[in-house]
Amino acid sequence: MVQEAQSGKTALVTGGAGFLGSHLCDRLLEQGMQVICVDSLLTGSMRNIAHLENNPNFRFIKQDVCEPLDIKDDLHFVYNLACAASPPRYQADPIHTMMTSVQGTLNLLTLAEAKGASFLQASTSEVYGDPDRHPQAEDYHGNVNCTGPRACYDEGKRAAESLCFDFLRLGRADVRVMRIFNTYGPRMDPDDGRIVSNLVVQALRGEPLTIYGTGEQTRSFCYVSDLIAGMMALMTVAENPKAPVNIGNPGEFTINELAKLVVEQTKTASQTVFKPLPVDDPTRRRPDISRAKALLGWEPTVPLEKGLRDTIAHFRERVAEAA
Ligand code: NAD
Ligand code: UDP
Repeated sequence: MVQEAQSGKTALVTGGAGFLGSHLCDRLLEQGMQVICVDSLLTGSMRNIAHLENNPNFRFIKQDVCEPLDIKDDLHFVYNLACAASPPRYQADPIHTMMTSVQGTLNLLTLAEAKGASFLQASTSEVYGDPDRHPQAEDYHGNVNCTGPRACYDEGKRAAESLCFDFLRLGRADVRVMRIFNTYGPRMDPDDGRIVSNLVVQALRGEPLTIYGTGEQTRSFCYVSDLIAGMMALMTVAENPKAPVNIGNPGEFTINELAKLVVEQTKTASQTVFKPLPVDDPTRRRPDISRAKALLGWEPTVPLEKGLRDTIAHFRERVAEAA
């Protein structure tokens, strides 16, 4: 992997109090960087960054990215992760979700331009919608329903990508776009409704494991440490790919297979219950990561069995604390 020396540089991380953002802040600080975390705490939590409170290289600003940002510091990097990522959460206020991706991304691109900072957009595999091509490579244009309940997120992220590539083409900023596939690990919000946290927490609480639809839909699950390594590699690779890059783990599992693994690893007595499939729920999803391998020398290293064990250990502590 080609990486510049990072020490002493300043990164702004939006969504830094969330699941992925808080891990990113940790890794950047470990590299000797200054980190400014901007987060409205919509779905994130101070708990995720509490351990950074007394770190002199870390600063937290509570702000919605839909509002203009007034940052006096020099910035070298802007990582834009602000956006609710769990379907129930992003659908709770769909217009705000869309505006976070559109107005928020525009505000941050403008900031990156003013500072001469490199910019990384946390885009998503959801830009592929319910894909009719499998696995999904970056040149696939997707199959998104622009009028459905997921559109606020999927179309918002697609619009954000459009803004990113316009800024890049116009020479206004050094912009990089990563398409993140389902990622899991410690610090996921136990109550935000995503599949890994839901199943693990239900198993640990002895509650029924909820499976939507038949459970035969697939997802590819990437462990958080792999994802953050890919994100930082994309931001710092010497030659800008000038194209989106999939970052995810190509290991593909049905939701039933995931539930079986959770039951085995937690040794829960919980049963599974089947619930209706949400509207427009994608049938299958697996990243083609050839581009990331070729351009970044990156590929995931943590298999689901191992990452799930570490995630379960984390949630075991949280569930015990709450009891
Ligand atoms: P998360 O919900 O834990 O984190 C998102 C963070 O953004 C939260 O801290 C939230 O408070 C903050 N936020 C939301 N709207 C905001 C706004 N308008 N202004 C300021 N802060 C705001 O989710 P995550 O899993 O950490 O996702 C981080 C990013 O990665 C998101 O942009 C998401 O779309 C993207 N992503 C994540 C996944 C995944 O599987 N985790 C997959 C694809 C894309
Ligand atoms: N899902 C499920 N039970 C749950 C939560 C989610 O069966 O308790 C399913 C959901 O319908 C989808 C998959 O698991 O098919 C992944 O859902 P998630 O919300 O984590 O992410 P998505 O990839 O849909 O954005």
